[in-house]
Amino acid sequence: MAADLYTRYMAASDQWRAHRKGCVPCTDGRRRCPAGTRLWNRFCDLQDAYLTHLRNR
Ligand SMILES: [Zn+2]
Repeated sequence: MAADLYTRYMAASDQWRAHRKGCVPCTDGRRRCPAGTRLWNRFCDLQDAYLTHLRNR
């Protein structure tokens, strides 16, 4: 479970960074495009879940 969560967290991080490289509004960091917002929210959710898991261990 934990390894799976970490894998998904890293994958979301990679996807977000890969998107941001090729997307001007997302590179700016303030006005994200809809696709970038989805990736960003997913990354934040997984990061929260992962950090919560670490704290509760
Ligand atoms: Zn974007």
